[in-house]
Amino acid sequence: MNMELSRRSFLKTSGAGIAGTTLGAFGFGEAEAAVAAFIKPFHLANTTEARNTCTYCSVACGIIIFSKGDLRKGEKADIVHIEGDADHPTNRGTLCPKGAALRDIVKSETRLTQPMVRKPGSDRFEPISWDAALDKIAHAMKHDRDANFVATNKDGVTVNRWLTAGFLAASATTNETAFATYKVVRSTGMLGFDNQARV
Ligand code: SF4
Repeated sequence: MNMELSRRSFLKTSGAGIAGTTLGAFGFGEAEAAVAAFIKPFHLANTTEARNTCTYCSVACGIIIFSKGDLRKGEKADIVHIEGDADHPTNRGTLCPKGAALRDIVKSETRLTQPMVRKPGSDRFEPISWDAALDKIAHAMKHDRDANFVATNKDGVTVNRWLTAGFLAASATTNETAFATYKVVRSTGMLGFDNQARV
């Protein structure tokens, strides 16, 4: 039979096989080995798999997020496991210690889950909606650019620079998203632009 087997499926299958063989070598009977081999896949039974990218650094390792809870039924989805994506060309299933701890970051009580704003004169940050935050940023950028854009230098040469604002982006995105971000930022004339990948 001609059967397509992804790299990850192969690793899962062969991993279960190796676990069973090893248990047998330690003296477990076939029945116990079969049960033991069944336990790990069972842990992820009925989960939804979503591919994503580790948020930490410019290596941008591929990850798979396993969650339980069906949003279509009004249930709350809960992440139960995150592992390296064996089919991803960058990391081929591996994760560094930071990436391996991603689930703890997601579950951290101090993780920001929404934009925050500190109003003028205030000594604290308060939650703000994404729409309100984006409008606020857009207005601030427009105001600053209108006031400080430099179209020509002292010799009359066109330079189209905006030097009074900067943009810090994240590299944990696809190449296409990074390309679009770069184009948008540079099209404003902004030169102060960076991210952790220095691209
Ligand atoms: S798993 Fe480690 S190396 Fe890979 S992107 Fe995350 S932090 Fe970087």
